[in-house]
Parts: sequence; C-alpha cells; structure tokens
Amino acid sequence: MNLVLFGPPGAGKGTQSKILTETRGLPQLSTGDMLRAAIMAGTPLGLASKALMDKGALVPDETVIGIIGERYDQPDCAKGAVFDGFPRTIAQAVVLDKMLVERGRKIDLVLELKVDDGVLLDRVKSRIAAGGPQRADDNPETLKKRLEVYYQSTAPVLGFYRTQGKVKTLDGMKPIPEVTQQISALLDGI
Ligand code: AMP
Repeated sequence: MNLVLFGPPGAGKGTQSKILTETRGLPQLSTGDMLRAAIMAGTPLGLASKALMDKGALVPDETVIGIIGERYDQPDCAKGAVFDGFPRTIAQAVVLDKMLVERGRKIDLVLELKVDDGVLLDRVKSRIAAGGPQRADDNPETLKKRLEVYYQSTAPVLGFYRTQGKVKTLDGMKPIPEVTQQISALLDGI
C-alpha cells in the first residue's frame, strides 16, 4: 500500500506517518527528514538545500525526486510506503505516479489533514514555549512563508489526486488518537 500524507506544515503528517510505520509496517518516506539528514552529514545536496529550507522555501523538484527515487528502491519499501511531505508540487506528483507505474504500483490513498492556519501558528508557539530542540524553520515568521508556499504550490496537488478519486479529508484538529483511528478505518476500508 502506498499512501500520501498531505497537509500544511505542522498538520501532524509526521506523527501519523510514524504511527502507520508502527501499525502497518510501511516505512515513512519524509523528504524533509532526508534533507535534514543530508544537512547534518554535510553533503553537497544538504549544503545546497539548507538556505532554502531555513527560509521556508521549497528545494528544487529534481533534488527531492532524486532522493525519493533512491529511497523507494530500498527493500523495506517492497510492500509500499507512506509519503510524508512529498509530493509538494504537481511536477513531483506527476513524477511519483510515473515512478510507481514503472514498478507496477500506484498511490492507493491521499490522506489530507485539514488544520486551520491559526491552530498551526498556536502549535509552533507551544513547541517554542515547551523548549526542546528547535528546527531552524519552526518559528512563527517562517511558518507564514511555509504556509504561503503550501497554498500556492502544494495545495494544487490535491486537485491532481482528486481527479484520480484518491483524496480523503480528515479533521487534523482532533486529538491525535482520533485522527489515527479515522485513518485506520479508512485503510481497513480499501
Ligand atoms: P518538512 O520537514 O516536510 O516540513 O520539510 C522541511 C523543508 O524541507 C520544507 O520547508 C522544504 O524546504 C524542504 N522540503 C521537504 N520536502 C520537500 C519537497 N517534497 N519539495 C520541496 N522541498 C521540500
């Protein structure tokens, strides 16, 4: 099964992806995590991506398409994967479809987590208030930019999947276990 977790920054895509990894054995393929690992490792790809990520802009399509393609061909993706934070542009979605078709696979479901902007902002503020390690792009200012990018470049990807009849929308403002339960019910229904 191949799933796309869709939604604005801070909607809970990562949280629900991790739960799906535990409960369904589907690896979480987060391009954001992969890019941060590349930054930590000091690779050229990481170095080239850092400034864009820090300011809340997207990295080029070719960059993420390259890393996702490589990652998807690892043996742990034999039964599928959860795509978290990818695709973020129509171009990425088109390439992902092509990549899956070439492997005799497809996206089964796109789970859209809907969360109001104000709630996303409150979540960032409470993460900051809670202390803990801080991501360079996890602050109210950069969130605004990331939301702009989301509505402009990423939200249209939903239309792409809607024409394929694959989108299921969930209220991402409900408590985490409730969202998990709703996702589980949807997956059991396909
Ligand atoms: P995330 O951890 O998914 O919120 O991603 C953090 C940042 O990594 C984003 O704000 C982008 O700068 C970059 N990024 C992650 N995934 C993608 C993607 N699919 N396309 C372009 N940029 C991405």
